[in-house]
Amino acid sequence: MSSHFDVIIIGSGPAGYVCAIRCAQLGLSTAVVEQNNNAKGQPELGGTCLNVGCIPSKALLDSSQRYADAAGHLAEHGIGVKDISLDIAAMMARKEKIVGQLTGGVSGLLKHNGVTVISGAARLGANRQVEVAGDDGVANVYSAENVVLAAGSEPIEIPPAPTDGERIVDSTGALSFDAVPERLGVIGAGVIGLELGSVWARLGADVIMLEAMDAFLPNMDVEIAKESEKIFRRQGLDIRLGARVTGAEVTAECVTVSYAFEGEEKSEVFDKLIVAVGRRPRTDKLFSADSGVSVDERGFVFVNDHCATEAPGVWAIGDIVRGLMLAHKGSEEGVMVAERIHGKAAQLNYEVVPSIIYTHPEVAAVGKTEQALRSEGVDIKVGTFPFMAIGRAQAAGETEGMVKLISDAESDQILGAHVVGPSAADLVQQIVIAMEMAASTEDLQLMVFGHPTMSEAVHEAALAVDGRAVHMANRAKR
Ligand code: FAD
Ligand code: NAD
Repeated sequence: MSSHFDVIIIGSGPAGYVCAIRCAQLGLSTAVVEQNNNAKGQPELGGTCLNVGCIPSKALLDSSQRYADAAGHLAEHGIGVKDISLDIAAMMARKEKIVGQLTGGVSGLLKHNGVTVISGAARLGANRQVEVAGDDGVANVYSAENVVLAAGSEPIEIPPAPTDGERIVDSTGALSFDAVPERLGVIGAGVIGLELGSVWARLGADVIMLEAMDAFLPNMDVEIAKESEKIFRRQGLDIRLGARVTGAEVTAECVTVSYAFEGEEKSEVFDKLIVAVGRRPRTDKLFSADSGVSVDERGFVFVNDHCATEAPGVWAIGDIVRGLMLAHKGSEEGVMVAERIHGKAAQLNYEVVPSIIYTHPEVAAVGKTEQALRSEGVDIKVGTFPFMAIGRAQAAGETEGMVKLISDAESDQILGAHVVGPSAADLVQQIVIAMEMAASTEDLQLMVFGHPTMSEAVHEAALAVDGRAVHMANRAKR
C-alpha cells in the first residue's frame, strides 16, 4: 500500500466517509482511517451515526411506535389486537441487522470508489504526517497533500452520575437494554433524552426526565417548544424542568438519584438511568502540538466558513467543529471540503440546515426562530396553521401540532419554519428547498399542494402569514 495520498481522512462517520467518496469521485487518491473495529475484527465504518446514533435510534423509535400503535391507537380505527407481546431480543436483532446492512453498504461504496481503508487510531503531526497505531501495536506513518479531521464526538459525563454501563448508561447503553426498565430516569430533556425516553416509555417504562434548564427545548421556537412539551407530557413523559442532579447511588437492584427541584432536595429510584446531557468533540489525542491545528476552550477545532483549519492543507468537518452536531451537516461539510481540495469554490449555506427530533409527532425546524428574529430587530410576518384543521391529519388521527412560517415583513422572503406534528421532518425539508431558492411565502401561496396531504398545512401557514388561510379563522392581518 502506498503511504502517500492526495487526501487522508481521519474518521469514517457521515462526515468522513461522504468526504472520502466525493474526493474519490473527483479523482483524488483517498484513504480513510478508522479506529473502531466491528465484531468481525474489521474497521467499523459509519461512525456514531450508523453504529450507535441516528440509525439504531430510529430503528427502535419505529419499532416502539408500532408497539404503541398495536397496544393502544389501533382501537380507535376499529382494529382490535389481542395478546400483544414484546420480544426485546428480536427488536434489538432487527436494529443490529439494519446497522450491519448500512455499515456493510458504506464498506462497499468505499471499495467501489477505490478508497483505501486504514485500521487504527490516527494522530496528525507536523506537515500533514499521519501516524496510525494499528491493533498489533505497530505504528505506521502516512502523509498527504490534504488531511481532513472527522473524528466526531462522544457523550459528556457528569460527576454526580458517572456511567457504569449497567445501571447508569449513555445513549449507546440506552440503545441496548435487554429488558424494558420499569422505572427509567433520564438526565437531560434534549434530543437524545426525548428520543430514547420515548422509545422506552412506549414500550412500558415509567420515564422521569430531569432537565437542568428552566425552559423546555430552549433553542427551539418558543411556541413550538411549548406545544411539544404539552404533547410529550400527555404521552406520559414526566419532564421536570430546573432539576439539578446532585448524586446517584448504585446498588445491585437500582440507582437512586438525588436532585434539587423547586427548592427541595428530592430523590428518585430507577432501574436504569440514561445520561444525555450533550456531546463533546473527540479531539483530545487527535493531533500533536506542532500540527498547526488549534481548538477552542470546549475542544472544537478552529475552522473558517469553509472548514479549513489554521494549518495549510488541514481541514476539519462534522461534530468536531462549530455548529450543529448533525449527520447531514457533517456530510455536506465533507462534500464542500472535497470540492475545495479539488479547486472549486464550494460553499455551504449554514442558514438552511434542518434539525429534527424524531419523536411522535416529530419536531423539526429550519432557519431562525420568531424570538431570535425579533431580538435582532427584524420586522417579520408570522403564519401558523394547526394540523387539527387538515383533512389528512384527521383521517390519520394525527391532529396534534402546527406549522409555523416566518418571513421578512418587507421582502416576504422566508426566514424560518418550525413544525411539530405528523411528517414534520419532511414538511420542513420542503421549506429547506424554498429557503435555498430564496422563496417568499407568496411563492408558496401560489403553488398547488396535493389534497389531502399533510403538506397542506405548509400551504395554509404560508397563506396565514398574510391573514388569508382558508380553513381557519385568521389572526388579524399583519
Ligand atoms: P462520528 O459519526 O462520531 O464519526 C467519527 C468517527 O471517527 C468514528 O467512527 C470514530 O471511531 C473515528 N475516530 C475518532 N478518532 C479517531 C482517530 N484518532 N483515528 C481514527 N478514527 C477515529 N444526527 C442526525 O443528523 N440525525 C439523527 O437522527 C441523529 N440521531 C442521533 C442519535 C444518537 C443516539 C446520537 C448519539 C447521535 C445522533 N445524531 C443524529 C448525531 C450524529 O450521529 C452525529 O452528528 C454524526 O455521527 C457526526 O458525524 P461525524 O462524522 O462528525 O462523527
Ligand atoms: P442536547 O444538547 O440536545 O440536550 C442535552 C440536555 O441536557 C439539554 O437540555 C441540557 O440543558 C441538559 N443538561 C445538561 N447538563 C445537565 C445536567 N447536569 N443535568 C440535567 N440536564 C442537563 O444533547 P443530547 O440530547 O445529549 O444530544 C447530543 C447531540 O447529538 C445533540 O446536540 C444533537 O446534535 C445530536 N443528536 C441529534 C439527533 C437528531 O438529529 N434527531 C438525535 C440525537 C442526538
